[in-house]
Amino acid sequence: MTEPWKLHDKTFVKYMSERKIQAGVKKLAARLNLEYQGKKPLFVVVLNGSFIFASDLLKRISIDCEIAFVKVSSYKGVNSTGKIEEVIGLDIPVEGRHVVLVEDIVDSGLTIVKLIDKIKALKAFDVKVAACLLKPEAYKMDYPIDYVCFRIPNDFVVGYGLDYDGLGRNSADIYKISE
Ligand code: 5GP
Repeated sequence: MTEPWKLHDKTFVKYMSERKIQAGVKKLAARLNLEYQGKKPLFVVVLNGSFIFASDLLKRISIDCEIAFVKVSSYKGVNSTGKIEEVIGLDIPVEGRHVVLVEDIVDSGLTIVKLIDKIKALKAFDVKVAACLLKPEAYKMDYPIDYVCFRIPNDFVVGYGLDYDGLGRNSADIYKISE
């Protein structure tokens, strides 16, 4: 993308290169391959934003695993609304399974904690989170986010699957808002 990248009314500048992202994803996959060896984990990909991260991460998972997809949405524009819509699409039984939620970004944590509670209620053996990005300053929940590629400041980012009102998902690099 040419810089600065203009999406709707906002301007974005490059924040993290494809090369750096891929190195982080590779490292996380290696960790998951070790820690979930013999556990046949169920990776639950949280759509839409996680589609590129999940694809890159799961291609590097070499142990036996299953993959499912869910959809949930709490974001409109550049601020979290705090309102969480229903979780849809979980069509694989999770009872007794080692579940790993694959999430693009954890901000306030409202979305992921709601999902964790739901999957726990379905009697999963355990539930962990693998996130590409975590905003530690924004994260308000007690639940530990076990697997994170990158911790980032509290800026709004796009690219690598993440959008700003529908635009910006189609970039291999991550951009941040410039104000
Ligand atoms: P939370 O519930 O943790 O506040 O927000 C989680 C969801 O909000 C993410 O799955 C993502 O869709 C969206 N989100 C949070 N921060 C950002 C950001 O910086 N950029 C974009 N594009 N989406 C974000």
